[in-house]
Amino acid sequence: MNELHVNLAQIDHDIVQIDVMYTGFPRISASYLITKPVPVLIETGPKPSLPYILAALRRLQLKPEDLRYVILTHIHLDHCGGAGTLLRQCPAATLIVHERGGRHLIDPAKLIAGTRQVYGEEFSRLFDRVDPVAPERLHMPADGEILNLGGGRTLTFLDTPGHSYHHLCIYDSLSQGIFCGDAVGLSYPDLADLGIPYYLPTSSPSQFNPQAMVQSLHKLAAHNPRCLFFTHFGVACPAAEILNQTCPLIGKWVEIATAAYQVPGQWQDIAAALWRYHEQDLLAKGAPAGHPALTWVKETLDISAKGLAHYLDTKDKQ
Ligand SMILES: [Zn+2]
Repeated sequence: MNELHVNLAQIDHDIVQIDVMYTGFPRISASYLITKPVPVLIETGPKPSLPYILAALRRLQLKPEDLRYVILTHIHLDHCGGAGTLLRQCPAATLIVHERGGRHLIDPAKLIAGTRQVYGEEFSRLFDRVDPVAPERLHMPADGEILNLGGGRTLTFLDTPGHSYHHLCIYDSLSQGIFCGDAVGLSYPDLADLGIPYYLPTSSPSQFNPQAMVQSLHKLAAHNPRCLFFTHFGVACPAAEILNQTCPLIGKWVEIATAAYQVPGQWQDIAAALWRYHEQDLLAKGAPAGHPALTWVKETLDISAKGLAHYLDTKDKQ
């Protein structure tokens, strides 16, 4: 049998970036493997991504049984959907997740229903199947809790709401990087290839809270990280500059969305306004009009516009 091809990138400090081919395309979602002193996986992706993680372990001459920790930044299914299935093959692994996320992994019915609402007919292709996690496999760290991996390496868990209320970031003492899930937003490697490093917040439905997101970014900045490990997608430096770019955009987006908001539930006007703003910005930075990298920005803005519409629909009730 031919081995599945998987794109791995070796990063300093025994960190390997695994392209988990979310949606079937490269450079959309990454998982990260810390290989030393003990194997730790950050993000499982959804179940269709697991073959890439297992192929990466084989390439690195590791077995699923060697994994000691599996860490999820949050419980959106593109980050966590495969956890229940993967854990069955990793008897030595403890699953680490935010305390607000654990019960939804034990019983994923709500998670599945909520995701179906956002993704509609695409649900089966992108996420099926979502297996539950046995409660005894879970550890839910307190904010600021430190996990000592040995060999002088620690991971610090940071409660970072804003994108969702069940979001953890993980500071790695050795790389001085932060595995930031969706807390900071998205990095666009195809634009970086064009010489335009570009980062945007992500306000996907349904728990976007702009004030909390800004506070979380300040919290990350206070750790003085060297780099950020984005799930979508890749490692990016210098962290301080990226945080300085994304933080003011949160308020800007709320301003744009509020001005474009007409009818409750209608996100399309917000998406069009966000796109006008960022298309202009990208063209001014030298991006070629019509380039596929711009199409991807537009698609991700559509998802963020849905979350902004939901925020404006419900903010007075929060
Ligand atoms: Zn998310």
